[in-house]
Amino acid sequence: FFVDAPLTAPGEITLPPGAARHVQVLRLQPGDALTLFDGSGPEWRAEVTAMGRSEVRVSLVTAESPQRELARRVTLAVVMPANDRMDFLVEKATELGAAVLQPLVSERSVLRLAGERADKKRAHWQSVAIAAAEQSGRTVPMRVEPVQPLPAWLAALPAPAGGEWRGLLSPRATVPLAAAAPGASAVFLSGPEGGLSDAEEGAARERGFAAVTLGPRILRADTAPLAVLAWLALSA
Ligand code: SAM
Repeated sequence: FFVDAPLTAPGEITLPPGAARHVQVLRLQPGDALTLFDGSGPEWRAEVTAMGRSEVRVSLVTAESPQRELARRVTLAVVMPANDRMDFLVEKATELGAAVLQPLVSERSVLRLAGERADKKRAHWQSVAIAAAEQSGRTVPMRVEPVQPLPAWLAALPAPAGGEWRGLLSPRATVPLAAAAPGASAVFLSGPEGGLSDAEEGAARERGFAAVTLGPRILRADTAPLAVLAWLALSA
């Protein structure tokens, strides 16, 4: 279970409401074992010590630091697909090991979120990522960044540093992804249902993105970034 509070040392703690509800729903009993993580990396073996209606107490026993992250840090910068495809993308990207998801709005976006609606959606997607981390055993959930317009995000992007590689997913590219050499970290930009405009692709190239293709078939806006992650996860 994810615990929304720092887990620092062995001993007894009261679970914050989210994790407590989880434990109550599963009807765990005093003496039952569970595994907790706070998102910083370690996971704790723990034991339920008291189950109250409003309070659940557990004893943290030992911490381990499992290595379940990808060999390289991957950021997916994705022009958000519409309908519930973004939920699917967040869940699967977490399972496949993306470190960061940057949701974007572009010229041809179907889903155009801004302001309070965008903030609410981001909070929802972060909770989807946490649930997917719990399910997949990741102890560092993928971080979902605030929604941004593509031009503003590109403009604020610093020059690539520390071996960072930038890939622009484009069906018109001639270089296959397999010929690219992502470094210790990589950022992949993918477009919406109607694709990125020539001007947007040009702006991305100016920020150091190299265009790569995933093959001769056109993949849906949620499939393309997941195909990249699957390739990286299985070839690392
Ligand atoms: N007609 C649009 C076009 O030509 O760009 C199709 C857009 S596709 C449904 C959505 C996004 O997925 C694209 O903008 C691109 O980023 C990515 N994509 C889809 N198929 C791809 C492929 N074969 N190679 C590289 N990227 C692809």
